[in-house]
Amino acid sequence: MQTNTNFSRGADAQGQFGSFGGRFVAESLMPLILDLEQAFNTALSEPNFLAELDRFQAEFVGRPSPLYFAERLTELYGGAKIYFKREELNHTGAHKINNCIGQVLLAKRMGKTRIIAETGAGMHGVATATVAARFGLPCVVYMGATDIERQRDNVSRMRLMGAEIVPVTSGTGTLKDAMNEALRDWVTNVDNTFYMIGTVAGPHPYPTMVREFQAVIGRETRVQMQAREGRLPDSLVACIGGGSNAMGLFHAFLDDPSVQLIGVEAAGEGLDSGKHAASLKGGVAGVLHGNRTYLLQDNDGQITDAHSVSAGLDYPGIGPEHAWLHEQGRVDYAAVTDTEALEAFHVCCRQEGIIPALETAHALAEVAKRAPLLPKDHLMVVCLSGRGDKDMPTVLRLMEEKA
Ligand SMILES: *Cc1c(COP(=O)(O)O)cnc(C)c1O
Repeated sequence: MQTNTNFSRGADAQGQFGSFGGRFVAESLMPLILDLEQAFNTALSEPNFLAELDRFQAEFVGRPSPLYFAERLTELYGGAKIYFKREELNHTGAHKINNCIGQVLLAKRMGKTRIIAETGAGMHGVATATVAARFGLPCVVYMGATDIERQRDNVSRMRLMGAEIVPVTSGTGTLKDAMNEALRDWVTNVDNTFYMIGTVAGPHPYPTMVREFQAVIGRETRVQMQAREGRLPDSLVACIGGGSNAMGLFHAFLDDPSVQLIGVEAAGEGLDSGKHAASLKGGVAGVLHGNRTYLLQDNDGQITDAHSVSAGLDYPGIGPEHAWLHEQGRVDYAAVTDTEALEAFHVCCRQEGIIPALETAHALAEVAKRAPLLPKDHLMVVCLSGRGDKDMPTVLRLMEEKA
C-alpha cells in the first residue's frame, strides 16, 4: 500500500478521479452544473449553512447515530470485535436522509422551487419526499414502472408526503431508466428545478457533493471509536449499490493506511450467472449518467440490467470515486451472493435483535467471512445502512419458497 498518496483529496477541477468521473452532459446542462458546483463550494465554507445542516442532522435525522458493540455477533464468529454504525436508526430508516437534508438546504439557498429525484427501491424517493415536505417544496419522483409494482409501500409513503410519482416505462422500467428521465426533466426545467441524486453517481459535482453530505458517518465513527477504544478501527465494511454509505463511512479514514476498507457489491445469483449487480467485480469501464465509471454492459456496450435480492443494490454502475479507489488499491472490493446475504440477514436478526435491510445484509455476509479469521483485538466497523422493514415481503416470500 502506498502511504504517500492523499486519497481523500477527491476529484480534480474537472471532476475527475483519475480517469473516472467527469461531467458528460448535454451542452444545455453545463451552466446548471457549474452553478450547482459553485453554490455547493460556497455553502460548505459558510458557518451559517453548516450550522443549519448540523441542526437538521441532530433534530430531524437523529444524529449522531450510535456506534454499537455487536457483542453476540462477535461471540458467534469468535474473532474480530464487531461494531455497528447504526444508520438504520435515522429518520426514514437509512443513511439516504443525510444526503437529502444537505441537498434540500442547498436547493433552498439557490432559490429553487421544485425538487426532482430518481428512485429504484424507493428509499431515496422516500427521503427526498420527506425533506421536500419539510421545506414545503413540490416534489416529482421518477420511478421505473417495474419498481413501482415491486415497492408499493414506499410509493404510498412518498404519496402521503405529497410527492408525485412519475412511472417510467422506457428500457426495463428500472432505476437506470428513471435516472435518464430525471436528467431529461432537469434539462427542460433548468431555471426552477433542483435534481437530488441519491448516491455518489451522476456528473460532477454530484459524486463529491453526496460523499460530502454522507461523510458525517465516518467522522462520527472516528470520534466514537476513539472514545470507546482509544484508537482507530482496523477495518471498515459497507455494502455498495452506487456507493454512498460506503464513501460516507470510508472518507474520514482514506488517509489512514492502517485502516482496511472493504466495499461489498451484490453478486446476485453468482458472478458467473450473469445475474448480479457487481459493477467492479463483473463490469467494464464506460460512460453512464454523466460520468465515466465501471458499468454492467453487454458486448455491444449496451447497459445490462443488474440483479440482486436487494432492490437498493441493483444499479448497473458504481460511483466514480470507488472506481478510482479500486484502481489505486486503497479499498478492497468483494461480492456476496443473494444466498449469503440472506443467511447473514437471519443471523443478525437472531443474534442482535436488529432486522437489517437486505442491502446491509451484504456487508454482514462479508463480516461473516472475515471476522472469524481475525484476532480478537481487531476492531471492525460495519455500516448498518438501513433497517429491514421494507424487505419483509421479500424475505417472507423467500422463506416460504424454501419451506
Ligand atoms: C440505497 C441503499 C443502499 C445502497 O446505496 P449506496 O449509495 O450504495 O449506499 C444501501 N443500503 C440501504 C439501506 C439503502 O437504502
